[in-house]
Amino acid sequence: MKLSGWGRFPRVESRLVTARDQDDAVRAVAGGGPLIARGNGRAYGDAAIGPRTTLSLLGMDRMLGFDPDSGVLTCEAGVLLRDILGVFVPRGWFPPVTPGTKMVTVGGMIAADVHGKNHHAAGSFGDHVDSLDLLLADGRVVTCGPNRAPELFAATRGGMGLTGVILRASFRLIPVETGYIRQETLRADDLAGIMAMFEDSAGWTYSVAWIDCLAKGPRMGRSLLFRGEHARLDELPAAARARPLDVTLRRARTVPFDVPAIALNRLSVGAFNALYWRLGTPREELIDYDRFFYPLDSLLEWNRIYGRPGFTQYQCVLPLSTSADGLRALLSAIGAAGNASFLAVLKLFGRQDGLMSFPMEGYTLALDFPASTATLGLLLDLDAIVADHGGRLYLAKDARMGAALLRRGYPGLDGFQALRAAHGLAAVFRSVQSERLGL
Ligand SMILES: Cc1cc2nc3c(=O)[nH]c(=O)nc-3n(C[C@H](O)[C@H](O)[C@H](O)COP(=O)(O)OP(=O)(O)OC[C@H]3O[C@@H](n4cnc5c(N)ncnc54)[C@H](O)[C@@H]3O)c2cc1C
Repeated sequence: MKLSGWGRFPRVESRLVTARDQDDAVRAVAGGGPLIARGNGRAYGDAAIGPRTTLSLLGMDRMLGFDPDSGVLTCEAGVLLRDILGVFVPRGWFPPVTPGTKMVTVGGMIAADVHGKNHHAAGSFGDHVDSLDLLLADGRVVTCGPNRAPELFAATRGGMGLTGVILRASFRLIPVETGYIRQETLRADDLAGIMAMFEDSAGWTYSVAWIDCLAKGPRMGRSLLFRGEHARLDELPAAARARPLDVTLRRARTVPFDVPAIALNRLSVGAFNALYWRLGTPREELIDYDRFFYPLDSLLEWNRIYGRPGFTQYQCVLPLSTSADGLRALLSAIGAAGNASFLAVLKLFGRQDGLMSFPMEGYTLALDFPASTATLGLLLDLDAIVADHGGRLYLAKDARMGAALLRRGYPGLDGFQALRAAHGLAAVFRSVQSERLGL
């Protein structure tokens, strides 16, 4: 069947096999590959598509144990974050790190070592994993973690499925008193303003900015900063205090058809950006966790708004020292090209070590672009800016970068390749992305 990631670009023929238990997964791997594990297909590009076979873990979706003293949850890799939230928020627990969609699996979060709006405070998801069971190419299942087979663990978080199949994992949830977030919205007039605001917000647990990537001249980089904290019980209005963890989720609506590509252009995105900026009046409010973390999840299949050709997300991170120059260069190139990006998100990452994990201390910018020839040309220009400023691209969003950019951006690559070779993983675990990148 034809498979794609969330961006619906590229679409590639692959045989899809579903594992319902460990034996199924062992049997699939014994076939010799090349194959790759797949969670819920929320990586944007070709990371979760096998060149021949794709092994879906969605059938391994059992929660196996929870320790209320430590907050450690053990579950199979195909459990969706949505289901963890559904079971644990009402009991006063929350994931330590969450991406901007809850429609991801635990295996997918570990393999991409996902970050949230709290990277500066909490690191990435892998920082909260105590151990995981990994199925290797020879059929062995190895338990690894920070203190057990640490090299295998270090390569597996952020390893995009290329070290084996994650079958189960144990990780720590954090306690919360309510299902609400105390959110503050601030406006920054330009790039220097938003960078200063991020630095001032270091004491906040969550922070993220929407950036108007079409604003030019003195307004370049104008942004809305959203920062948040888990609300305490005494911060809720009296009426909500009786059921502080009882959050009514919004009813999801589906985008009913592929929007013609013409609908997204400089004018429509420019008008949207101007309106969004005006509506972003500085304020403080209490909102439920679902609206704060997952605003897009209420619009099912929103990837269809980019039409049949699909779209790609461009997410880069630049080191702190080059971020101001690099962001200015990126925004200038995007503004000059007039290639509309609806969603442009800026975050400040904290420090992180890791073989293949994406975050590094600095600013990360994420932009959606329709998949078109013009876009792909622009993205090559952005690649050059990212490379010149010592940055890198996020593999979970990538559908088109070249091997040279990967090599320049990921200094841990040689160690990763050596580990793959030493454990005989390279021949068996391969994705369309890894073949494109020569991984
Ligand atoms: C709307 C939206 C918002 C997002 N926001 C963020 C964000 O804020 N931060 C962030 O970091 N990411 C973000 N992402 C990306 C997303 O979190 C990652 O791509 C995540 O890996 C997707 O999980 P999945 O279960 O769908 O995995 P898939 O897309 O199916 O797979 C992703 C990778 O994980 C590997 N993999 C999956 N399961 C296993 C397993 N059991 N064993 C071994 N390897 C496995 C696959 O081989 C592939 O390389 C966002 C994506 C979307 C669509």
